[in-house]
Amino acid sequence: NSKHLDTMKKMHGLLAKLYHYCLTETDFGKDALAYLDKRGIAKNTIETFQIGFSPDSWEFSTSFLARRGFSLDDAEKAGLLSKRNFDGKLFDRFRNRIMFPIQNAKGETIAFGARILGKGEPKYLNSPETPIFNKSKTLYGLHLARSSIRSKRQAVLFEGYIDVISAWKAGVTNAVATLGTSLTEEQAKQIRRTAETVVVCYDSDEAGVSAALRASEVLESAGCYVKIAKMPDGYDPDDYIQTYGPKKFLGEVIAQASTQMSFKMETLRRGKNLLDEGERIRYVEEVLQEISRLPKAVERDHYLRQLADEFSLSLDALKKQQFQYYLQSK
Ligand code: ATP
Ligand code: MN
Ligand code: MN
Ligand code: MN
Repeated sequence: NSKHLDTMKKMHGLLAKLYHYCLTETDFGKDALAYLDKRGIAKNTIETFQIGFSPDSWEFSTSFLARRGFSLDDAEKAGLLSKRNFDGKLFDRFRNRIMFPIQNAKGETIAFGARILGKGEPKYLNSPETPIFNKSKTLYGLHLARSSIRSKRQAVLFEGYIDVISAWKAGVTNAVATLGTSLTEEQAKQIRRTAETVVVCYDSDEAGVSAALRASEVLESAGCYVKIAKMPDGYDPDDYIQTYGPKKFLGEVIAQASTQMSFKMETLRRGKNLLDEGERIRYVEEVLQEISRLPKAVERDHYLRQLADEFSLSLDALKKQQFQYYLQSK
């Protein structure tokens, strides 16, 4: 059976090479290459991440695998082919898409993330769960990032493939991403094995903000020291780098990443006019509720003082009210 798994990995390895060749050396890949260029992904990046292109065909990969003597049933079980409903005929799962090879910790290709050129649904088509690919145990970019994570003792966690790739160009070589799902305990433990600190750098939309908070809980439980990076509304890390450049990304997003609590405070602030008395009080109360959930007295004290200073409130009153919230939540 381990031979079976090796065969599946072999198919992935060969197809990754073939897709990469299609993108970089053939006419099939022209539009995809232009699309990547437009997004600021140039030749050297395409090489580093072995990005490829699957031609617009129902049988390109199928016939390649058949010619190489692979069992097409195995290829289907490996998530590379799909089965036609009415007659069971097998055909290419990935067609006319930019191919991002997904590697395991050993650097073996075990799956693909595949993006449509431009707009359309689904934007990303990923490999299904297979005997060699477990989404909740895999992190995109980990193999490539591992030595950098180790020397920096820090990892940066993103939501998307393109974010990892853009960050890499900007000099953030300790970058990994989940695969379209929320961060799992297994993934957090895997990161913890090489990194002490993790900077969570998710999209700044509402979904991204709550996912970042959830991910940071999971990472803290796994024993990581966590920081959360903030970005202006409506940006993801790739958008940010394209708009403001690598220097600002490093200096103002990654380097300025703050604690979970500061991130929460920043989020609670959004959409509130703190010059308005009522909204200001509501903000202070919301922050006090968050403070009351902090497990460490030192941390609670730190943020209470910060709040007292910023709004010229008595530390004593803040402490009392925070304690009320603490009792209420018991
Ligand atoms: P791009 O910049 O190319 O639009 P993105 O990374 O910003 O890509 P998001 O929509 O933010 O795309 O999604 C983040 C991640 O979620 C993707 O990298 C992918 O892993 C996953 N994802 C997004 N859309 C889908 C989908 N339709 N099916 C499966 N996974 C998806
Ligand atoms: Mn190449
Ligand atoms: Mn995004
Ligand atoms: Mn994006």
